[in-house]
Amino acid sequence: MNPRWNGQFSRFDLVAKTGKSRRSVVQVHDIEIGGDFVVMAGPCAVESEDQLLRTAEAIAEAGARILRGGAYKPRSSPYAFQGLGVVGLKILRKAREATGLAIVTEAMSEEDVDVVAEYADIMQVGTRSMENYALLEKLGRCGRPVLLKRGMTATLEELLCSAQIVAMAGNPDIILCERGIRTFETSTRNTLDIAAVPVLKTISHLPVIVDPSHAAGVRCLVPALARAAVAVGADGLLVEVHPHPEQALSDGEQSLNFPEFRTMMDDLAPYLAIRQAPARLRPRLVAAGGHD
Ligand code: PEP
Ligand code: MN
Repeated sequence: MNPRWNGQFSRFDLVAKTGKSRRSVVQVHDIEIGGDFVVMAGPCAVESEDQLLRTAEAIAEAGARILRGGAYKPRSSPYAFQGLGVVGLKILRKAREATGLAIVTEAMSEEDVDVVAEYADIMQVGTRSMENYALLEKLGRCGRPVLLKRGMTATLEELLCSAQIVAMAGNPDIILCERGIRTFETSTRNTLDIAAVPVLKTISHLPVIVDPSHAAGVRCLVPALARAAVAVGADGLLVEVHPHPEQALSDGEQSLNFPEFRTMMDDLAPYLAIRQAPARLRPRLVAAGGHD
């Protein structure tokens, strides 16, 4: 490890990698996040039963294991759709019963934690909440794994600090998520800090996933960023998918429709195969994969 990183991060002793610590696997039913490559997908927001159930079936068929969908939505504008709340959570539960997919959904404040934990398999912390310390502490006692998104202006040190707070409050099951950060670039919604993945995997034993949707802000870039995430060793993806992105109540511009999601998943297969192959087979697999 880079000696500077060691000094900088080792004080977060519950989440930093030490010489001896093994990589953590976050177990959700039979899904091993940090073991298998796990794709979480679904709409930005739960809008209706029909929208969610159709999406759940489509993403499961394409190989995703976990259904995402916000019932409590952190929106920048007070005029934007704020989510269905408990009604949305009940729809998520129905989708789990219908498909067997696990559920990840956001808790925005410590007051939401108990009710969200009743319905969710994984508790999402949004970028705007990464430094909500009351929420983090409550999530430390919620009995569910936590998907901790990097604050859009947070350093990796600050991300690990937030993870340490959850762990110190009693919850070791934390998944880190790079979702793009604010930079001077305006052609994408955020800038995907792709180096964050190998840095986090060097300094921490926690699983690291990438959200290419909120990084890109436009759907045409999502598959390329997803491939980049696989190439740098991410443990999974969080991707927005909607039956009719042009009609979505939030984040439609960055959501894939069903065929686009299917194609993205199919195109990731050779990249994943390369990662899993023994080193001596890699050149042959690159040729067989047929990708540029
Ligand atoms: C989301 O996942 O829909 C979301 C609001 O993400 P973020 O907190 O990264 O903006
Ligand atoms: Mn969104």
